[in-house]
This record gives sequence, C-alpha cells and structure tokens, in this order.
Amino acid sequence: MDLKKCSGCKTCQLACKDYKNLPIDRNFRRFVEYSGGTWKKEKAIWKNNVFSYYVSVSCNHCDNPACKEACPVDVIYKDEYGYVLIDEEKCIGCESCASACPYQTPQIDREREKMTRCDGCKDRVIMEGRQPIFVESCPLRALDYGPVEEIRKKYGNIAEVAPFPAYTETKPNMVLKLNKNCQPVNSTKGQIANPLEIRIDWLQK
Ligand code: SF4
Ligand code: SF4
Ligand code: SF4
Repeated sequence: MDLKKCSGCKTCQLACKDYKNLPIDRNFRRFVEYSGGTWKKEKAIWKNNVFSYYVSVSCNHCDNPACKEACPVDVIYKDEYGYVLIDEEKCIGCESCASACPYQTPQIDREREKMTRCDGCKDRVIMEGRQPIFVESCPLRALDYGPVEEIRKKYGNIAEVAPFPAYTETKPNMVLKLNKNCQPVNSTKGQIANPLEIRIDWLQK
C-alpha cells in the first residue's frame, strides 16, 4: 500500500465487502485512520502540527500467523500458495484467532458461529490470474499485490507503521510506502480517529 497516494476514500473496503457479500457487521478489509497533533498560539498566530494518514488492512497471510498458533482445534492452515485459511466447517467459533491476531483480521459470523476471514481473493488470483478486488477497485492506484519477493523489489520492505505492531510480531506479508505523516510503531503522538468503524480491542491489550 502506498500511503502517499491513499485519499481515504474506502472504496477498497466497500469493494471487498460487496465482492464477498458481507453483512453490516463484517468487513474483511478495514480502513484505519491515525491522526494527532494540536494547535497553539504563538504571538498573534495560530500554528498547528496536526497530521493524519490512512492504512487499508486485511489479512497479511503472515509467515508467523498468531491466529494459527491460537486455534485450539488446529483448523487454521497455510496453504501451498502462502494463504492462511480456515477450515470453517471444523471451526468451533471460539474467537481465539481473532483475539490473537494483532490486526484483528478474522471476523466471526454470528449466525453460523463460524470464523470467517480474508482469503486474499484466492479465487480471482489463482484461478483467474487477476488482481484481488481491493487492488482493482482503488481509484488512486495506491494498492498492489503479487508474490511478496516481487513486491519488496518494487517498493522496499517496510511492513510496520503506527497503530499496528512491529513486523517481528507475526511477520506480515505486507509492504508499505510511508508518507511524511506516518508515525513509528508504539507512537503515542496520535490515536485512531475512526474507532467506531473498526474493532480496536488489539490496541487495548
Ligand atoms: S494478519 Fe492476523 S489473521 Fe492474518 S495471518 Fe496474520 S495473524 Fe493470522
Ligand atoms: S474461532 Fe475457529 S478458527 Fe478461530 S481459533 Fe476458534 S476454532 Fe480456531
Ligand atoms: S481505495 Fe485506494 S485511495 Fe481509497 S481508501 Fe482504499 S487504498 Fe485508499
């Protein structure tokens, strides 16, 4: 994701929701706004250091998936392509994986009491040779997708920014191009500006 390009329009989130036919209470892709700063008066002039930036995030199909470690019935697996997936039929709906994921990616289906999650649009990518829906929907071309080695060659290897955790926690397969407002992991300069849109339990751990 290129944070210099993202305008915060949330098209990626809605395109994913539409493609996966998700109800109101579930979003596989979520959109976090992190902002901070203040105004102060210097002589007759008001000055500010306010900042804000947006991060579009879903499952990072991590190399060290905390969700998989947490599952008591061992129904989360990494497939031959690297996708971290759930055998939903065997899931007991305990939500341990959602609590363990520092990105709060798994989303419980309350009607079926089964955990559901981003599958990286595997059907489009593997079967149809297309990009995931969130990439194709972005009007500002802020998103890209592919084998992580190729993506790192193109864009570098930054994979952490506030309010998300350090790369070493789960080794997410994500690459970020940061903008000038971006804050380091564990920053206390800002806060999530859209908490009602997302679950932020992981911030309160
Ligand atoms: S982002 Fe969360 S749910 Fe996805 S693989 Fe990593 S730990 Fe698991
Ligand atoms: S909700 Fe399902 S997939 Fe998640 S930890 Fe519990 S049994 Fe495993
Ligand atoms: S669709 Fe693109 S510009 Fe809009 S929020 Fe998502 S990443 Fe940002």
